[in-house]
Amino acid sequence: MNVHEYQAKELMRSFGIPVPEGGIATSADEAYEVAKSLGGGPVVVKAQVHAGGRGKAGGVKVVKNAEEARDAAEKMIGMKLVTHQTGGEGKLVRKVYVEKATDIDRELYLAVVLDRSAEKLLVMASPAGGMDIEAVAEKTPEKIFTTHIQPGLPLWAYQGRKLLFGCGLSGEALKQGAKLIQSLATLAWEKETSLVEINPLVVTKAGDLIALDAKINFDDSALFRHAEIAELKDPLETDPLELKAKSYGLNYIRLQGNVGTMVNGAGLAMATMDVIKMAGAEPANFLDAGGGANEEMVSRGFEIILGDPNVKAILINIFGGILRCDTLAAGVVAAAKKMDVKVPLVVRLEGTNHEEGRRILDESGLDFTTAGTMSEAADKVAEVVNG
Ligand code: GDP
Ligand code: MG
Repeated sequence: MNVHEYQAKELMRSFGIPVPEGGIATSADEAYEVAKSLGGGPVVVKAQVHAGGRGKAGGVKVVKNAEEARDAAEKMIGMKLVTHQTGGEGKLVRKVYVEKATDIDRELYLAVVLDRSAEKLLVMASPAGGMDIEAVAEKTPEKIFTTHIQPGLPLWAYQGRKLLFGCGLSGEALKQGAKLIQSLATLAWEKETSLVEINPLVVTKAGDLIALDAKINFDDSALFRHAEIAELKDPLETDPLELKAKSYGLNYIRLQGNVGTMVNGAGLAMATMDVIKMAGAEPANFLDAGGGANEEMVSRGFEIILGDPNVKAILINIFGGILRCDTLAAGVVAAAKKMDVKVPLVVRLEGTNHEEGRRILDESGLDFTTAGTMSEAADKVAEVVNG
């Protein structure tokens, strides 16, 4: 789960990490009021959307006073912000964060990520802050310093000092930074995050450290232990199809391609996406309809898949075990009729009663393409969408 920058900063502040003073605004007048309450001097107006790269896209504006803050907010609120992370459609800006401007001397990068292969949290620091860390990793990997945290133990002060020494800090800034990194590591551990990122972490002209940007991803599977975090979820930032699928009890993730997929079982669903790609097409989604894919579930699956206008064909890949293929086929036929499915359907049924299942599909009067194996199904659906 993602949260907004202002929420991430609030959490960081509660862990003792220095962040600029600021407030949230949903209108230009509110932005003016916040700027006034911050002293009326220079502030930064920042679009609150779940995407990075706002600075380059016009979503971060440094202004001199409250009047200019109002103007900046006026332009930002209601605009569709297109950054390299939003896709072409962009993201609607509904609110802005107004915070006191900082005099920047240097911009660093700092993050705590879950390193799945090491089964540990990994702390990353770089003197090349403020830019795309992916680009830094690719072009100048020697500018990234890392250290692991032993599970259940704190990050030791010397580890933080070593990272920051690599980033060129010394003296008071190094001391402050080591403490800040320890607080960030504690936050990551206690709140079970998969990513906490401060980019940029800034050394001010006065020589102090402060987090200018904040991004946190929480582990969804751990949210039941953190009700106060789950509350921070902004439903307006979540894909409406994913929200609807969740309310139906379907495991659905929207992707960029045009082949809709409906599968029973998460492992089979992932394998299905792989074979679609190997056949030269791109999946439009991941959808695990679960073990009990009955007519109702299949109907809801169609509803969700067809809610994505990119979908040009659907591949249904079902392995019948406890759920028999004939029952499933009858469900697919009924659902396809009910939902008036217009895109081509390729169906691969395997397992208990699969012959009976295929007969039901063939005799349904609907235009199903059946396939015996997964790769055959993938080839057929790729042929449909690639012409
Ligand atoms: P992002 O582009 O979405 O990652 O947004 P950031 O919050 O990282 O802001 C982008 C850039 O705006 C930063 O790297 C800074 O260079 C600049 N910026 C943000 N806040 C301030 C500020 O208070 N003062 C100044 N001078 N620049 C700022
Ligand atoms: Mg940033």
